[in-house]
Amino acid sequence: MNKAFMKEPDGLDQVRCPGCESVGVAVGNAPLDHHILPEYRSALGDHAWFCRYAGCDIAYFNNWAGRVLVSQLRSPVYPKSPDAPLCSCFPFSMEDIEADAQESVPLRIRELYAKSKSPAAHCSHLAPDGQCCLTEIQRLYFRLKSP
Ligand SMILES: [Zn+2]
Repeated sequence: MNKAFMKEPDGLDQVRCPGCESVGVAVGNAPLDHHILPEYRSALGDHAWFCRYAGCDIAYFNNWAGRVLVSQLRSPVYPKSPDAPLCSCFPFSMEDIEADAQESVPLRIRELYAKSKSPAAHCSHLAPDGQCCLTEIQRLYFRLKSP
């Protein structure tokens, strides 16, 4: 059976990782320059997609067969390496989320939220996907809160 009949065509903004088929997150120059080792940076241009699937070796890819592997990054990134820092801008760990989940008020996450709105936050170039980490931190928190 023709594959075209098996699933809806993807929108133009939905670009899928060639390694795992998960939908990539569009990134610009800044995260690419910050995370990719200089000798591999030329594999991609000014624009690429980050693969968020932890089990996939591909970190960044584009539509023209350009790809950069997790092993070609300057340092481990979350979620590719579960031990990598959750937040790219401020110190924040899984232990902080666990501690918040055990208390009635998530003070540590609130404090991080306040910092993320300050000029000291640089998610758009420090985060591997160029996005603020709080969505993921809230997801991890609620997963612990509601077993
Ligand atoms: Zn992938």
